[in-house]
Amino acid sequence: MAQTHILGYPRIGARRELKRAQEAYWKGEIDQQALLAAGSQVRSQNWQAQQAAGLALTTVGDFAWYDQVLNHSLMFGVIPERFNTGAADNKLDQYFRLARGRAPSGDAVAASAMTKWFDTNYHYLVPEFSTGQDFTLDSEWLLAEVKEAQQLGHNVKPVIIGPLTYLWLGRGVDNALDLLPGLLPCYQQLLAQLANAAAQWVQIDEPILGLDLPAEWRDAFALAYEVLAKASGSKLLLATYFSPLRENLELASGLPVDGIHIDAVRAADEVDLVASALTGNKVLSVGVVNGRNVWRTDLARWQRQLQPLAKQLGDRLWLSASCSLLHSPVDLDTESALPDAQKQKLAYSRQKLEELKALQAALLPDAALLPLADTTESRPQSEILAELANTWRAQKYTERADIQRERWKLPLLPTTTIGSFPQTDVLRQVRKQFREGEISAQDYNDHLRAEIAEAIRRQEILGLDVLVHGEAERNDMVEYFGEQLDGFIHTGNGWVQSYGSRCVKPPIIAGDISRPQAMTVQWSEYAQSLTKKPVKGMLTGPVTILNWSFPREDIPRAESCLQIARALRQEVQDLEAAGIGIIQIDEPALREGLPLRASEHQEYFDWAVGCFRYTCSEVQPETQIHTHMCYSNFNSIMDAIVALDADVITIESARSDLRLLKAFAGEGEGYPNEIGPGIYDIHSPNVPERKELVYRVYQLLDVIPLEKLWINPDCGLKTRNWAEVGSSLLNMVEAARTVRAEVA
Ligand code: GLN
Ligand code: ZN
Repeated sequence: MAQTHILGYPRIGARRELKRAQEAYWKGEIDQQALLAAGSQVRSQNWQAQQAAGLALTTVGDFAWYDQVLNHSLMFGVIPERFNTGAADNKLDQYFRLARGRAPSGDAVAASAMTKWFDTNYHYLVPEFSTGQDFTLDSEWLLAEVKEAQQLGHNVKPVIIGPLTYLWLGRGVDNALDLLPGLLPCYQQLLAQLANAAAQWVQIDEPILGLDLPAEWRDAFALAYEVLAKASGSKLLLATYFSPLRENLELASGLPVDGIHIDAVRAADEVDLVASALTGNKVLSVGVVNGRNVWRTDLARWQRQLQPLAKQLGDRLWLSASCSLLHSPVDLDTESALPDAQKQKLAYSRQKLEELKALQAALLPDAALLPLADTTESRPQSEILAELANTWRAQKYTERADIQRERWKLPLLPTTTIGSFPQTDVLRQVRKQFREGEISAQDYNDHLRAEIAEAIRRQEILGLDVLVHGEAERNDMVEYFGEQLDGFIHTGNGWVQSYGSRCVKPPIIAGDISRPQAMTVQWSEYAQSLTKKPVKGMLTGPVTILNWSFPREDIPRAESCLQIARALRQEVQDLEAAGIGIIQIDEPALREGLPLRASEHQEYFDWAVGCFRYTCSEVQPETQIHTHMCYSNFNSIMDAIVALDADVITIESARSDLRLLKAFAGEGEGYPNEIGPGIYDIHSPNVPERKELVYRVYQLLDVIPLEKLWINPDCGLKTRNWAEVGSSLLNMVEAARTVRAEVA
């Protein structure tokens, strides 16, 4: 009989209990013992859920107080120098200092860098290596959790990140592979400890096997796993996910481990290939339940596909979710915002465990065939791409730029902001009252108008050149549009961890998307009526709306993206007709949708960039289109950014020195249009001084021509308070004036 297991379970708790406990602990509202108890409660519930669904093994080690990669950094003693001074006197606080730069005990210190985990919206803390990095093993937390689970009667399978993936994720040395010989002894020791703790199986995650790996990294796998296999008294399950194995398939299947897990959602056609490549008595774990979406699995299809394998492999066929369920919401039973008819089509993590159980039963020799569901015929990708082929604006940028300069008569180094202004406690309170029916729509609207009027008044006083309405009406840049578009559904408790205690609640794309009515026009129009200066219209782009939602599985993502783009194009046209002549279309999630394999980049860009251009393909040349992105790793997507053909792009750059700007400034292949590299970091409460900013502007002028440079912060200001925003923007505007006067 096929066995069932998972690679990991969400750790936020069914009602985000862990988030609440973490935040309360950081604020000093509860003590460490209470926090520890909350964590242990979440773990035991997670294990209990796995046991209740009849999983053969209970996964342990997937819990983290902040991040699983950070767990490993602490386990291997990868603690940068700066954390040693003013260190916290207990381990957990030291852990939080590494994660967030401060903890109830110990000095404040610059936190570790955070970046996205493969192509997900989960952020991990980047291991910071130094030359000659030493590794020492401290596995106390993992062994304690193993014991804790065993005492509760679980047959545990500890999970750890493999040495190559761990090194790959780190920064700070030229070639992290050089650190492998120093790191392997820690893994040997750890595996010995886990075997000692009676773990029959250990899951070792190596998702980088789904990437385009340099030859030396590929070669290192055979070597490293030879060593680990010898050291391990437990059986090893090598887990890969997020991407097909392709040229690494043979390598992965041949490693001296006892089983391999593959992501059958992303690589359905590799199931049989891996099965035939496996030698000896190896286990094949197939991740058929999507760990990254909320739709029920098509069990009938998998039943048919897996039947021969089930016969062939018997209990060496394992059924699982594609990746850790970390990327799925926790439990549909806690979902009260959706009607039953909708809930029946969905599965959160706990329901995914049930699906595994159902599939296991369906693969028994005498099981009846499950009825096949009707499938909708979707149009092929080529047709979608054909529709997106000609989305360029009628005039080239250079012609548009002349017309726009004539219309706007902006000064050199024009100043602007990224869109949002502080979401004050009062505003949040009023929104809550409105949502709970305590105040009328009229009162809510009046309040929003007052917020907008105040934002305009302040910007006039500050002397900014291009104003914004401030986004008081949105608490989230995707949810706001999702709520107004047809085709989306919104959950009440579909939370997924984004980083640390931060969770997101992505809307679900459940049908064809369309726009019943204008979404932002009334706010922008009102703001514009209050000032003679231009007010930027503010939209979230189609790719970001798609990438930050749970997508449909019955049609290609490109098709949903195009549907969103059609709706946004109507909005853009309406804004233009209402006299809004500068429109910003934010695409902060363009990069994270980038496929993990370079061979798939072009196709993604074809539709993603095509959809962005589609939204503004019909505007007049005098309408200025802006876009905004807030990440700094542009190099691999520079061509796509240029192809967006926005008149102005504002980007994050305040924290990334001038490295990134080199990509934009490159002669010939640089960014041809106008650009506003954020001149200060809005993520910090510090107010930048005017002379720092003047210096920064001059630095920028070294790489970007004067007539192309805009002056702005590096992201929206909604998380800041008005005092910080007012002083920072005042300094920014004055810095622009100073430089303007000096260079004119
Ligand atoms: N316009 C948005 C804002 O200012 C952009 C947010 C973002 O880049 N994530 O908040
Ligand atoms: Zn941003």
